[in-house]
Amino acid sequence: MGSSTQLLTRKEAYALVELSLQQARAAGKRLLVAIVEFDRFYRVMDTKGTEFSDAVMDNMINRLEETGKLLSGVKPPVLCNWGSHSFLCILQESEAADLCWNAVDAIKYSVECPVSEGGTELYLTSSIGACYYPQDGFTGDTLICRAESALQMSKDGGGNRISFYRSEDTDRMYRRLSIETGLRPALYQRQFHLSYQPIYKLSDGRLKGLEALLRWNHPQLGAISPNEFIPIAEHNGLIAPIGEWVLRESCKMLAKIRKCGLRDLRMSINISPLQLHDPAFTSTVLGVLEENGMEPGSVELEITEHYLFNASGTAVASLSRLRAAGVRIALDDFGTGYSSFSNLKQLPIHCLKIDKSFIEKIDLDGPERHIVESIIGLVHKLGIEVVAEGVEYEGQYRLLKDWGCDYVQGYLLGKPMEPTVMDTTMFRGSPQEDREEEEVRLQDEAHR
Ligand code: C2E
Ligand code: MG
Ligand code: MG
Repeated sequence: MGSSTQLLTRKEAYALVELSLQQARAAGKRLLVAIVEFDRFYRVMDTKGTEFSDAVMDNMINRLEETGKLLSGVKPPVLCNWGSHSFLCILQESEAADLCWNAVDAIKYSVECPVSEGGTELYLTSSIGACYYPQDGFTGDTLICRAESALQMSKDGGGNRISFYRSEDTDRMYRRLSIETGLRPALYQRQFHLSYQPIYKLSDGRLKGLEALLRWNHPQLGAISPNEFIPIAEHNGLIAPIGEWVLRESCKMLAKIRKCGLRDLRMSINISPLQLHDPAFTSTVLGVLEENGMEPGSVELEITEHYLFNASGTAVASLSRLRAAGVRIALDDFGTGYSSFSNLKQLPIHCLKIDKSFIEKIDLDGPERHIVESIIGLVHKLGIEVVAEGVEYEGQYRLLKDWGCDYVQGYLLGKPMEPTVMDTTMFRGSPQEDREEEEVRLQDEAHR
């Protein structure tokens, strides 16, 4: 930190936590360790330069120290430098249990008062992570780590908040760490596989396609939902190779199915928004289709609604190129984001998938019934097809059919199937495959 105000260094702060801990132990008191970090302070540094941000920092430190002195019932907190825009704060609790909480709250409030510096007025907020001795730890090191993990919770929650350490958060962080470290080897150790859920056409009840859904069996944690590991893969840059593997694997499966005679079947593949930022994505998709001898219209790429409405120009351009090449595009989880029908018209989509959170309520007497019926009518007017996701009951199926929905997908009609099940139900004994096997056998015999 380049500010001129002298605070204890990080090393001195560690020593002070240990000392305060010994005092608290001897006096039978609780100790609070908190880390205060200014939210997105890098923006001030980026836009106003270091001289200005150092002056703001000095101003803030003075203010925090003054706030500490004004607190009643607790000794003024000791403030130490912790990072470029964060402080460690140590408070020994006296009689009343809520005094430390009030002190932390006062610190947070003091950050929020406007700062005037060089004629500019700034409004800052802070994220605070805090923990107590003895309930959260007995050593200085443990307490600091736990204050850090509570701080992370505040930041993950969007900042501008105070979080107290909870042991569940550590369990959650361990799990996240195991997932993060396990994801890299998972691909080459073949721990992923795809399951395939059928999609049916409502007008004739025929199987129209399959949606490829990624599955991961973690060696220690067991099966992990894609809802949990995909965001982590997106965060650490592994979604690109994983997404490409999904694309190749599902196209190979489609080629295999088509060989069995189901030539009109389409494969729906979920795509992460990050894949669309790769300038090579379009050519990868078209290349994989060509390798498997399939026309572009045999796959449908599913992108979630929330993302597509906020997508960058590059991503929409990628989708438009794919659409122009004949690949189908679907808007997934419709109804979970901030949909607008005027936006819908601008997007290069063929199909819209209404989220299961709507479908699960259409057979009840609530607003979802009218919303879904109206969406189907409106979307059809825009020339876009509709899939209903998460159809679990006969009543839902019948309503969707009455309303003219194009396709349905859900546990009522078929759960996601493992490839082994597909092998026995779709491929075993198919006349086409029998014929091909017979041809191979005859050719082998001819060569002998
Ligand atoms: P999604 O694309 O909306 O997929 C539908 C999810 O709903 C699947 O969950 C499916 O198993 C589940 N589902 C289908 N029918 C029913 C039903 O009748 N009732 C209920 N309760 N659930 C039903 P799953 O497989 O856990 O996938 C969750 C999400 O993970 C997917 O939602 C998709 O957003 C993401 N995902 C899955 N595979 C991939 C992938 O290969 N790449 C990417 N980027 N995301 C994927
Ligand atoms: Mg999907
Ligand atoms: Mg969906």
